[in-house]
Amino acid sequence: MSIDPLDGPAAGLKESLAAAIDHDAAHIAAVGDDIFAHPELAYQEFRTADVVARELRALGLPVEEGLARTGVRARVVGSRPGPVVCVLAELDALHAPEHPAADPGTGAAHACGHNAQVAHLVGVARAMTERAAAGELAGEVVFFAVPAEEYSDIGRPGVSDVEFPGGKQELIRLGCFDGVGLALMAHASGVPEVAPAAPGAGRPTAALGMDWQYTGFTTRRAVFHGRSAHASSAAGHGVDASAAARIALHAIDAQRGTFAEDVRVHPVLRAHPASLNVIADQATVDTLIRGRSARSIADAERRVDRALRAGALAVGAVVELTSAPGFLPLAVDRTLGGLFRRNALVLAGDAGWAEHDFSAASTDAGDLSHLMPVMHATHGGCAGVNHSARFRVVDPVRAYVQPAKALAWTVVDLLHGDAAAARDAIAGYRPRHTRAGYVDAMRATTRRARYPEAAEPWTC
Ligand SMILES: [Zn+2]
Ligand SMILES: [Zn+2]
Repeated sequence: MSIDPLDGPAAGLKESLAAAIDHDAAHIAAVGDDIFAHPELAYQEFRTADVVARELRALGLPVEEGLARTGVRARVVGSRPGPVVCVLAELDALHAPEHPAADPGTGAAHACGHNAQVAHLVGVARAMTERAAAGELAGEVVFFAVPAEEYSDIGRPGVSDVEFPGGKQELIRLGCFDGVGLALMAHASGVPEVAPAAPGAGRPTAALGMDWQYTGFTTRRAVFHGRSAHASSAAGHGVDASAAARIALHAIDAQRGTFAEDVRVHPVLRAHPASLNVIADQATVDTLIRGRSARSIADAERRVDRALRAGALAVGAVVELTSAPGFLPLAVDRTLGGLFRRNALVLAGDAGWAEHDFSAASTDAGDLSHLMPVMHATHGGCAGVNHSARFRVVDPVRAYVQPAKALAWTVVDLLHGDAAAARDAIAGYRPRHTRAGYVDAMRATTRRARYPEAAEPWTC
């Protein structure tokens, strides 16, 4: 028999918070819509951060700003000591210049719904302060708006004062998660624009949901160096770097049947200035190699590296291979996820809940999950698949309001009374990294190699 989350000692507080969020619904939605209309790229979310800081300061909370450039943090302290629960919201948009709401200058667009996360954070913070929730809670609630979740290019962050591409990665490095016991967030889940019976249908269309696991990934940049020559009359004196890249891409594709079933490899051939009558002396292939486990990622990585070297070998080019930190796989904490599910079922009903074992997407919440229990739920209210020009919020209640309630209720479950549920979740969790160990491991993923090592194609 399931326990009704509104039939316990925290029921009154939960009902009060839900009423406060309903009362604030127009304000919460206006914040979400405002962020959608002003998208900013990773580590450049200065206006978005200002909105968050202004909202939190208006509640009388002391606000820290400028964490990993744009991170904003405030805390509500409970009536007794206890664990620290962090409510996360991602600040950044992604580069999607074809999106109708894209910033014409930067090409940024909120095609991944992070604007909704800011609305959730504001909604939970407003409700908890307006209804003086801290008096019934132990521990602390940290509201943390974080930069840079989208990983749009190898070589990012591209800003000199940041080391890691992911905002949560960088904040871990800086010690900004030290002392946090658990972290929660909800992410938009878009809807494919296909008929219900078509392939690809069936992903979450529900109000709230959970994908229990997400892939991690590593990266590879392959720069092929050839030799320029007249493309026809002196072709034999050239080394075609673009041909090396094409062979490498075919060799990756030829191995797709051998990758572990949870692996996704998606290379991109970068355009270089090219002339039709000159043999290309340079070509670049960038690849994300995703998988559900470090083991399957490493296996795919070996196959991709062979393919990249094969392209160089076939035409007598040289390839320089570099890798940079990716994101770690995410396994959602079962205790936290179970609390969220119980609340979501009350708020959205059975038909409004969808859960899946696995999502092929990746997030730097995975990195955080190697240091603490993390809950990464999904919410609906959006149309179009994520990262497409069609993605947009269509139902502000589902996108902004309901997830805020479900997150607020889950925080209450964790910290109500003497915070027994939060203590249980932390006790049942085994960290896979210390902060220092994590930073060392990520730095160790930065590698550089050249193949063939001694070749000089320009003297062939
Ligand atoms: Zn995204
Ligand atoms: Zn996202």
